[in-house]
Amino acid sequence: MVNARCPVCDEQVDIGNKPQLETTIDCPYCGTTLIIRSTGRKWSLEIYEEEGEEGEWEGGEEEEDLF
Ligand SMILES: [Zn+2]
Repeated sequence: MVNARCPVCDEQVDIGNKPQLETTIDCPYCGTTLIIRSTGRKWSLEIYEEEGEEGEWEGGEEEEDLF
């Protein structure tokens, strides 16, 4: 079993026997979505930030070029 430390709550999170790189998991302690990375032989977790979900703050009209 492999553990890696959650960067948010500092708990050891079980990431399974064969962790898959770039896979996201939810920390069971704080609920943060984390992505599995490896540095050398050690596994680490980073906060996963979704892309492309923001934009509400831009406001204004949507300008669509389609049709
Ligand atoms: Zn956590």
